[in-house]
Amino acid sequence: MAAGDGATLTAAGVADDSRPVSLRLVRVRVPLRTPHRAAHGTERERDVILVRWTRPDGFEGWAECPTLTTPGYPTGTTEEAWVLLRSAAARAAGSAAPAAVGAAGAALLDARLDAHLRAIGSSLRSHLGGSRPAVERCAVLAGLGDPPEQQAEAARRAVEGGAAMVKVKIAPGRDLEILSAVIGEVGAAATAADCNGSYGGPDQLDGVDRLGLRYLEQPFPAALGLDRLAVLQRRLRTPVALDESLTSAEAVESALTVGAADVLSVKPARLGGVEAAARSVALATSAGRDAFVGGMLELGIGRSFAAAVASLPGCTLPTDLGPSARYVETDVCEPVVLDDRGWLLVPDGPGCGRLPDEGVLASYAVEDIDFDW
Ligand SMILES: [Mg+2]
Repeated sequence: MAAGDGATLTAAGVADDSRPVSLRLVRVRVPLRTPHRAAHGTERERDVILVRWTRPDGFEGWAECPTLTTPGYPTGTTEEAWVLLRSAAARAAGSAAPAAVGAAGAALLDARLDAHLRAIGSSLRSHLGGSRPAVERCAVLAGLGDPPEQQAEAARRAVEGGAAMVKVKIAPGRDLEILSAVIGEVGAAATAADCNGSYGGPDQLDGVDRLGLRYLEQPFPAALGLDRLAVLQRRLRTPVALDESLTSAEAVESALTVGAADVLSVKPARLGGVEAAARSVALATSAGRDAFVGGMLELGIGRSFAAAVASLPGCTLPTDLGPSARYVETDVCEPVVLDDRGWLLVPDGPGCGRLPDEGVLASYAVEDIDFDW
């Protein structure tokens, strides 16, 4: 695509991409192959928003806002993001670029970045400094309430399929029996647990803390604040990963400063986009802490963005991201897949490495709106 008439060129000879000439918001509903059950709710379909940013020179970038349907996760719901994105687009007249807070804002930044990278012919992975073409995986067993033997079997199959470790969703009263069964199959060093903030204090986790898990994710509610979490978590011997507490790179910095995180769960949508996610990984590296890219049940576009972050050398633990086929029958773009070792292949190519298939989009779209300026 050549630079169109009227495109402003920057000193580098690249067209000004500070505001789009068009913004398209596509809300899709894609059925999940199996329900995703965690302490904060159950997801049966992926109701997410795809954003297309068109620059004055005609280059287009895409991004995904992978919010959840049910409330309780800090990114807010898809309905909330939909309202934010529509009003951001409606306000973006004249010289103002569309901008929004939270996951909606992250999607706008990522779509703009994707368009920029396509314009300069660069991949997101190389732009961020990602060094690995494929990354090791942690299979998340999101079957809170499923019988222990069923989860143990799922863990065994995941490791046989190339997962380096597994993570079990737990909540008070639904923890020890399940974890013991899973550890019996794959070992404690290959097992982590995600509490989604469902425990009230360290005493409730006594038994779990003795299991020798790789790490324990967000044991206590994010609402307690980082200082309080640091105090409570000091009473646990298991390394603690924070997820829901980390809502920006600044929050990551604070968590590391007060000693509230041994491990960082890095999610672009929650932190403010891929560049904020990459900054968060760099902060973990500087602090000598481990990091991994967590999952938001992304469709292929969001999954490609997140996988690029997972390829950074500072992501020292296996990513929660899995292949598209684990979640959906047909992805909205060329699926994200595994290599023959069972590692996740990081999409390559211009931008995030994937573009939506218009035919598939049309079959899943429930709303599709264009804003042109
Ligand atoms: Mg989590």
